Formats: sequence, C-alpha cells, structure tokens
Amino acid sequence: MSLVIAMDGPSGSGKSSASKGVARALGLRYLDTGAMYRAMTWWMLQSGVPVEDPAAVAARAAEPVLESGTDPDAPGITVDGTDVSEPIRTREVTNAVSAVSSVPEVRERLVLLQREIIGAGGIVVEGRDIGTVVAPDAPVKVYLTASEAARAARRAKDLAADPGASVAVTQAEQARRDRLDSTRKASPLTKADGAYEIDSTELSLGEVIEAVVRLAKEQT
Ligand code: C5P
Repeated sequence: MSLVIAMDGPSGSGKSSASKGVARALGLRYLDTGAMYRAMTWWMLQSGVPVEDPAAVAARAAEPVLESGTDPDAPGITVDGTDVSEPIRTREVTNAVSAVSSVPEVRERLVLLQREIIGAGGIVVEGRDIGTVVAPDAPVKVYLTASEAARAARRAKDLAADPGASVAVTQAEQARRDRLDSTRKASPLTKADGAYEIDSTELSLGEVIEAVVRLAKEQT
C-alpha cells in the first residue's frame, strides 16, 4: 500500500486543518470521513427519518448516494448529486450526527465507501476510527488531542460563524457529542495500536503539520 496517513481524534483537536495541511505539503489526496457521517445525517433529517431510532436509521442507510471529493483545497461532498458541503455543518446536523454514526449499518456502508476511496493510498484520512477500523494497516497513524480549554477556544472561534449559538450551549453540545462518540459500541473513538499521539495544545497548526510530515517521511 502506498502512503496512507490516518488522523484520528476528537473535534476541536485541530484535525481537519492539520489533515488538509499535511495533504497539501505532501501532495496527497484528503478524505474527511466526518463529512460522510454528516452527509448521511443530513439526508436522514431531510427524509424525515427519526434519527434517534437506530432501527429506522438502519433501514434507510443504503439509500443515499454519497460522493466525496478528495482535493484538500476543495474537498466537497454531494448526496444524490446535491452539494451539501454547507448544510452538513449546521447545528441541527451536528447535534444528530452521533446518533446516526452509532448505527452499525451506517458504519458498515461508509467504511466500505471509505476503503474504496482510499484504494491504493496516497491519501490523508481524518476521522475517529481510521487507524482502528478503516485502515488499520496505514503506515502512519496519528492520534491528535488537545486540552479541553484549547478545544473550547477553537470551538469559540468556529462559533463566530454561527451567531445563533452561545459559547456555553455549544460547549455542552460538544461535550455530549464527544461522550457519545467515545462510549458507543460500534467503533468508538480510541487511540489505535501503533498510533503516534500528538497533543496540539501548545503547538501551532504549522508545528502539528510539520510533526506529521516528519513521521510520514520516516516511514517512506
Ligand atoms: O469530524 P466531525 O466532527 O465532522 O465528525 C462528525 C461526527 O461523525 C462525529 O461526531 C462522529 O459521530 C462521526 N464520525 C465517526 N467516525 C468517523 C468520523 C466521524 O463516527 N470516522
């Protein structure tokens, strides 16, 4: 397999910016698996599926056609041909995504799609279960963390784009999502065997990218 860099970690750890930066620095493709779970969730909401009912979600999980772009400068994602890059970032989707992503039928389908896209490699893949489930043989596995305070500060920055949500409410929603993602039965967020842990609390984005690029160069 040529280079696959698995980037796992909780939200607010700086995973997306770091993953895109590494892909650019090394001329690799980029896959945002969180966007796929969000797109599935967006479709369930649009289709009137009760997202807190795992059986209802499982019954419809095979229906939407998802296509993920892999350009780190403009990844893009479509559902049944509609560009959903923006609507998948709404609070409504964010607060429903953990319920949808905990359904095994959803995960089985998306993991297959992810492995197809990864193909022969040459890609940075970010998510929660990349090093543990999707690509356990990836030559470079990173588990990116940050202190609760650093993650909250990053969230507050993202919040500037969403004036409807207060910092306190968003932090509570975030804590709930982290708890659900880490304690679910199917592929919970956890550090993979052989993963290199990077705590980004005291690091700039450039320093995180540099650390991952260095790891990748050591492997090749
Ligand atoms: O990375 P992002 O925060 O956009 O991910 C949205 C949600 O998708 C996560 O909270 C998690 O529930 C789910 N997810 C997952 N497995 C992945 C990536 C994301 O379960 N590999």
